[in-house]
Amino acid sequence: MTRLSYKPGDFDLAVRRSRTGLGLYANEPIPKGSCVIEYTGVEITKEQEEKSRSKYLFEIHSRKTIDGAPRWNTARYINHSCRPNCEPNIHKGRVYIHAKRNIKPGEELAYDYGKNYFNQYLKDICACPKCKPEKPAATRAAAARVSAKTVRKTAKKAEAKPRKRA
Ligand SMILES: [Zn+2]
Repeated sequence: MTRLSYKPGDFDLAVRRSRTGLGLYANEPIPKGSCVIEYTGVEITKEQEEKSRSKYLFEIHSRKTIDGAPRWNTARYINHSCRPNCEPNIHKGRVYIHAKRNIKPGEELAYDYGKNYFNQYLKDICACPKCKPEKPAATRAAAARVSAKTVRKTAKKAEAKPRKRA
């Protein structure tokens, strides 16, 4: 494999609404292997880490953790996916997000947050394309079934009176 660059490319990215809140999207093609963005933050101590309730902690190694919660850390908007198109790589004590494959314009960026984070926060609610595949036809059919049932129930209730009277 070619060696990764750790200089983020000047890619056109945008924070937009996603399935789970906000997400970071590619506005242009990003070739596989590109360094997309650095995950930056404030270095915190072990004591701060233990007390912290931030969901943006990134352990770089056993002695260094950064809190990526500040808004200037654009990479904080990258959501988790169990089938991601990006991956974080640690280089000289800093975190960089690389493209795992070619990314098309309009695609949401995602990387795997790791087992610990997943088990703690996402196990039951992960909305990534692998855990909650978007099947528009199936979903619409299911929604139609539900509303048909509701309509039928309502209709029965509405019919009840006139039938009694008759
Ligand atoms: Zn998932």
